[in-house]
Amino acid sequence: MMKIVGLTGGIGSGKSTIAKMFMDLGIPVYFSDLEAKILMQKSKIIKRKLIQKFGKEVYKNNTLNKPFLANIIFNDKEALQYVSSVVHPKVNQHFKRWIKKQQAAYIIQENAILFENGTADFFDYIIVVTAPKKTRIERVMKRDKILENQVLERMNNQWKESEKIKKSDFIIANIDLEKAQKKVLQIHKKLKAL
Ligand code: ATP
Repeated sequence: MMKIVGLTGGIGSGKSTIAKMFMDLGIPVYFSDLEAKILMQKSKIIKRKLIQKFGKEVYKNNTLNKPFLANIIFNDKEALQYVSSVVHPKVNQHFKRWIKKQQAAYIIQENAILFENGTADFFDYIIVVTAPKKTRIERVMKRDKILENQVLERMNNQWKESEKIKKSDFIIANIDLEKAQKKVLQIHKKLKAL
C-alpha cells in the first residue's frame, strides 16, 4: 500500500524547501496551499459560494480578487472560517483523486495547517519541519518583504511548534540546509522500508 505522509511546520520553517528535496528523490508532493488557490480559481462550487457570501466583487474579470478577499478575512474570523469551510472539503476531495494517480512507495501532502485543520488522522505518518521562532520570522520578513508584526499575526493562527512535535513521527530541524538534506534522505529510506 502506498503510504500517505503529511509534511507540516510553521510559517518560515522551510516546508516547501524540504518538500522539494523529497521531490528530487522522486516522491510526488501535493502542495495544499497552491492547489487551494487553483481550486478557488477553477471550482464553480467554490466560486458560487464565495460570491453568495461576499458579493460579485470577490471575482474580477473571472479572476479571484485576492486583495478584496484578504481585506475581508484579515480581521473577520467568521469570514475566514467560512472560506476554509468552502475550500477545505474541495482540496481534500481533489487530494484524494490526486493520490489515485500517483505511483510511488509513498506520497506527501505539504500543508502548513495540517494539525490546525483537523486532517492529521488521515495520514499514515507526519513529518514536522522546525526552526527557531526568530529564524522563521527573519526568513519570512525577507522572503515576503513584510514587517515582524505581520509575520507574528500569521503565526498567531498556528499551533506552537512544541505541540506539533508531540504529534509527529519524524522531525526535520531545518537550520543548516546540508544537515536537513541528510535527514531527508534518512527519513526517505525509512519510509520506503516501512
Ligand atoms: P510558508 O509556511 O510561509 O509557506 P515554508 O515553511 O514553506 O513557509 P519556505 O518557503 O520553504 O518555508 O522557506 C522560507 C524562506 O526561508 C525561503 O525564502 C527559503 O528559501 C528560506 N530557507 C528555508 N530553509 C532555509 C535554511 N535552512 N537556511 C536558510 N534559508 C532557508
